[in-house]
Amino acid sequence: MGLSPKGVQLLLEGAKALGLDLEAHLPAFSRLHDLLVEANRRTNLTALRTEEEVVVKHFLDSLTLLALPLWEGPLRVLDLGTGAGFPGLPLKIVRPELEVTLLDATKKKVAFVAQAVEALGLKGAHPLWGRAEELAHLPQHREAYGRVVARAVAPLCVLAELGLPFVALGGYMVAQKGPRVVEELEPLPRALALLGGGSVTVHTLVLPVAQEERNLVVMAKEAPTPSRYPRRPGVPGKNPLC
Ligand code: SAH
Repeated sequence: MGLSPKGVQLLLEGAKALGLDLEAHLPAFSRLHDLLVEANRRTNLTALRTEEEVVVKHFLDSLTLLALPLWEGPLRVLDLGTGAGFPGLPLKIVRPELEVTLLDATKKKVAFVAQAVEALGLKGAHPLWGRAEELAHLPQHREAYGRVVARAVAPLCVLAELGLPFVALGGYMVAQKGPRVVEELEPLPRALALLGGGSVTVHTLVLPVAQEERNLVVMAKEAPTPSRYPRRPGVPGKNPLC
């Protein structure tokens, strides 16, 4: 099946607006589109169903991360709450030198991601099933990633507790947010002070085609996270640090 000519055009033109040439990666995105559509027929994997939705809201939205100068070189990246693989899979397709771990708490989503990694022949992409609150305490994951990314997982005050423990000193966590980010940013420094977080910068851009505002919230990791964080599964969400 693959992407239609209209889908290909949306992807190429949208990517161009983000400063990216995706020509060489069309086969991979086309295959990923098919796998998503097929999996969505069997189970409710993602809410986005039309070709345009998949191209714009999954592929292009994931790739807005590349507006930041943070992806050069052999880095370990953790996609926290990757769902069906976003933003991690598009990032890995376009920046194959990145080592990308795709973490989700829902088994069927991780199973889909594993299937996609296999079908696309992605080397250095690692599906991981579990809760961030537990995995962040394991030595092989704690402060082991140069970058942590997350899209549509939790409010910033919750996300900081789930994600910053994974970030190595000197690294960054990037949260992909929509237009209403100001209210979440205001209390955030209180949580960051507890977690070893430092400066926060916000990069605002427009999602191509949809013409919607997006905000990339970049949190720097400046000190080790105390071992009591993250708290037990569910606690960060129920009783946020800010
Ligand atoms: N990032 C994807 C999915 C967003 S839905 C996208 O943008 O399309 C949020 C996902 O985060 C869900 O799949 C859920 O299982 C996962 N999630 C939420 N809290 C989590 C936690 N504490 N640990 C691991 N995964 C979590």
